[in-house]
Amino acid sequence: MILIVGAGITGLSVANFLHSKDYLIIEKEKEPGGYCRTIKQDGFTWDYSGHFFHFRHPDIKDFLVSRMDGQEILTVQKKSKIYYKGTYVDFPFQKNIHQLPKEDFLECLHDLYFRDGVRGETFKDMLLSNFGKGICEKFLFPYNEKLYACNLDELDKDAMGRFFPRATLDDVIKNFRFPDNSSYNSTFTYPKGGAFEYVKALLRDIEPEKVSLGERLLSVDYKSKIAHTDKRSIKYDKLVNTAPFNRLMDLMGIEYDRSIYIYNKVLVFNLGFDKKGDAENHWIYFPDRQVSFYRVGYYDNIFDDDRMSLYVEISLESNEEYDANSLLEQTLSDLRGVGLVKNQKLMSWKAVILDPAYVHINAKAQKDFASKSVCLKDFGVYTVGRYGGWRYCSIEDNIIEARGICNELA
Ligand SMILES: Cc1cc2nc3c(=O)[nH]c(=O)nc-3n(C[C@H](O)[C@H](O)[C@H](O)COP(=O)(O)OP(=O)(O)OC[C@H]3O[C@@H](n4cnc5c(N)ncnc54)[C@H](O)[C@@H]3O)c2cc1C
Repeated sequence: MILIVGAGITGLSVANFLHSKDYLIIEKEKEPGGYCRTIKQDGFTWDYSGHFFHFRHPDIKDFLVSRMDGQEILTVQKKSKIYYKGTYVDFPFQKNIHQLPKEDFLECLHDLYFRDGVRGETFKDMLLSNFGKGICEKFLFPYNEKLYACNLDELDKDAMGRFFPRATLDDVIKNFRFPDNSSYNSTFTYPKGGAFEYVKALLRDIEPEKVSLGERLLSVDYKSKIAHTDKRSIKYDKLVNTAPFNRLMDLMGIEYDRSIYIYNKVLVFNLGFDKKGDAENHWIYFPDRQVSFYRVGYYDNIFDDDRMSLYVEISLESNEEYDANSLLEQTLSDLRGVGLVKNQKLMSWKAVILDPAYVHINAKAQKDFASKSVCLKDFGVYTVGRYGGWRYCSIEDNIIEARGICNELA
């Protein structure tokens, strides 16, 4: 019997691709979907944080869409901006410095041209050597420090992998006259019913009794292959884990270096207002350290709704305490300060915490994860997914990884 821990995108995908039907999924929450759940409240549709889908593999897209009969799927050309000193600049910042006030533009261009190009090992080094001090200090440092809630020296140079918008000096200069801000998510899809529709697609072929909701894994005796949950003990042949890797180590009683498995959490405020606001953008980035959030997205501009519906993302350190009510006050005040909220009245809101949100990719954790995850396979334990695999990835990557693991399990 194969025991799958977690009914998020990865766990459900594993269940879909398994060659054997002898499996059980346990999920600690009362609902499946993990971070791809959707909240419907007072006529608003919100995800746990804006979840938009960019498929590079047509077969994966077809796999999902063929299981979504009757669901309208929107295809959207992304419009995103950066809020900079009271005005807007196109994203990515490094390719649009010509849109900055003249002094800032000259400083960025000068520093880009005379960047030292010395390659270091950290994310901060990578940014500085590629883009120079001006671009880094005006956007790349403050924005990424807000996003990751950490010192950028703690991240590996490839911490964002393919998701980082790269640009050479030539690209930057070409962009002055012939804008090309294309990126991995220039066009994205989004189901009318919210991200959860993709979860429903993955649930379609899974028999309901194969998913045990509200059942939490408490410990694993990996030598005798017994998982203890808050409901029972389960004897398994193979265990596929999608819970965060550091927490799995705790549940298995395996020693590890806690100082290298670092991450941040993200508090998301989903906010519904009575009237429309900005009718153009899908999301806006906020590098300003005085502004509490790092990004704000507009669901209403994706759905073409007539009431402003926002998700606001605030990053926190992994052990940081917070008070949601006072952060909400701060958020609303900052939204007014940057002009996103003018005369709109807040009608409905819901806070969600994503913990962990971004694992902090560093060479030590990557090496440690690689060796531990290989050893675990000898005991029939496979650990995958965004957090089980301790990586930065999209839901498409999760589905592809799940398919690969099933081939291995077979
Ligand atoms: C802020 C943010 C924005 C994102 N935006 C996008 C986007 O626009 N597009 C995109 O493609 N991807 C996006 N992602 C990534 C996407 O959310 C993930 O890749 C995907 O949801 C990960 O799925 P998963 O199944 O691996 O993990 P999870 O969704 O975390 O699922 C793991 C499951 O395991 C369960 N679990 C944990 N511990 C236990 C236990 N002890 N016992 C039982 N069950 C347990 C959890 O409750 C959870 O349901 C975003 C991520 C974040 C943080």
